Amino acid sequence: MLTIAVQKSGRLSEKTLHLLKECGVKFENGGKDKLKTHASNFPLTILFLRDDDIPECVDDKIADVGIVGENVMMEKGKALIIAERLGFAKCRLSIAVPKAVAYKNAQDLNGLKIATSYPVILRSFLDKNKIKAEIHEINGSVEIAPGIGLADVIFDIVSTGSTLLSNGLKEVESVMKSEAVMITQPDLAIDKKKILDQLLFRIRSVQKAAAYKYILLNAPNDKIDEICAVLPGMKSPTIMPLAMENWSSVHSVIREDDFWENIENLKNKGAQGILVIPIEKMIL
Ligand code: ATP
Ligand code: MG
Repeated sequence: MLTIAVQKSGRLSEKTLHLLKECGVKFENGGKDKLKTHASNFPLTILFLRDDDIPECVDDKIADVGIVGENVMMEKGKALIIAERLGFAKCRLSIAVPKAVAYKNAQDLNGLKIATSYPVILRSFLDKNKIKAEIHEINGSVEIAPGIGLADVIFDIVSTGSTLLSNGLKEVESVMKSEAVMITQPDLAIDKKKILDQLLFRIRSVQKAAAYKYILLNAPNDKIDEICAVLPGMKSPTIMPLAMENWSSVHSVIREDDFWENIENLKNKGAQGILVIPIEKMIL
């Protein structure tokens, strides 16, 4: 049995539960008071916790693995390892100063008071840059600190920057990037490691599938070679004759990133009736 700690409610919870369900793991969501549930078709126990408690819980072996923002993992400073980067809840931790302040470089922070919920990460940044600044730890609404005279500048999570802007701040130093990560102990027992590997295999299949699309198109036979040359398939495209003479159907798998660029290219080369279909799982 593997025990996984996930965020009970917050920015990580929906995508975390969705990911587990996409992996075919069936369980009942944690209700308001439900902190623990067992998957019905996979040897997994799920604990629903506040994200701040997840690294410690994994370190204490109450849970074997956890899904948490990399920022929280770093802040807690436990000797844990990242088993997989999950690609959601992307954000960065940045220094932001009031808009009117002329900021040149990190040395300008000397002598200032910095409000943050991430004192450990901030301390390591300040020490690395030999900056002497005062850290004022607060747990929420960090962005209002300069406005109410609690601090001169802040160090906080930024994703789009719109919260900073609406509080009269500007981002001046990006200190670390973060995304949701699967964390685990470095010395996980062999039987648990086996279950984790099964789960990771499923997660990677789901993630790979999300990055690709299945594409079908029709084309006259004399254009097939040209079309196949621009279709970056997994191996090589499947070509099947249509009922209509001299026409074929071409099937392939392409990266979502290359998608629009290739569609234009294919149309220009004579492809018609192009269908693009999501892929649920992909095992290479
Ligand atoms: P909890 O109640 O569990 O302690 P919380 O309020 O501390 O939750 P959330 O706001 O739910 O935390 O954020 C969880 C994680 O999501 C953060 O630690 C960070 O990794 C990521 N995150 C936070 N804000 C954003 C954002 N604006 N955009 C993208 N990801 C974010
Ligand atoms: Mg939290």
